[in-house]
Amino acid sequence: MAAEGQAAVVTIDGPSGAGKSTISRLLAARLGFTYLDTGAMYRAVALAVARQGVDPNDAAALDRCLETIELELRPQENDDVLVCLNGEDVSAAIRTPEMALAASRISAYPRVRSKLTQLQRELAARGGVVVEGRDMGTVVFPWAAHKFYLDASPAERTRRRCEQLRQRGENPDYQEIMAQIKKRDLDDSQRDLAPLKPADDAVIVESSTMTPEAVVEFMLARIRNLVTRSS
Ligand code: C5P
Repeated sequence: MAAEGQAAVVTIDGPSGAGKSTISRLLAARLGFTYLDTGAMYRAVALAVARQGVDPNDAAALDRCLETIELELRPQENDDVLVCLNGEDVSAAIRTPEMALAASRISAYPRVRSKLTQLQRELAARGGVVVEGRDMGTVVFPWAAHKFYLDASPAERTRRRCEQLRQRGENPDYQEIMAQIKKRDLDDSQRDLAPLKPADDAVIVESSTMTPEAVVEFMLARIRNLVTRSS
């Protein structure tokens, strides 16, 4: 069933390292929309769970931990978005390979997913958003009018992730990064709840040989074409 503001939600799902963040930011800027990085939310919850030493299999402890978590995404003037956990800026702390794997682990827990799904819907309620994640088009915003599934070959995704880490002054090991990416993809796509997969009505964009600008132009053309045809 369609929800209010449906036309103003653009979903971008896909595996790790496919370029979702880069593309979502660029697309949001072109559309004058805000950008919602839902992976950052899972990472922040994973950080809180790790810091509190909570066993996610202990449902009562996990509930108590989730109760204490207040997440805020604060857009900055330079188009960056600060991720704040109970008022603390954790944007850098969540961007580690360990937190990526921890986020993937806790994202399989129903309580975590239902809390974040609700928060994501609240944050997008006013419309005018580009949302990126794994289950945006399938579970969180199934009514969105514009859905994309951004993919690229594992080799290309590994190359992009290594480049990102190098820009941050790190010295990544290609094989290690590829193994992490493949593990996360497998876990994310095989979990029972909200697995990574394209929505039936998503446009699949295989971006291995495309520049970010080309991907954004392609998406904009699809969005404008649909808007023109339906108006
Ligand atoms: O996108 P990012 O790599 O930051 O996401 C970290 C992890 O969070 C993913 O591997 C996935 O397990 C989880 N996630 C999810 N659903 C989303 C976004 C992220 O399960 N919508």
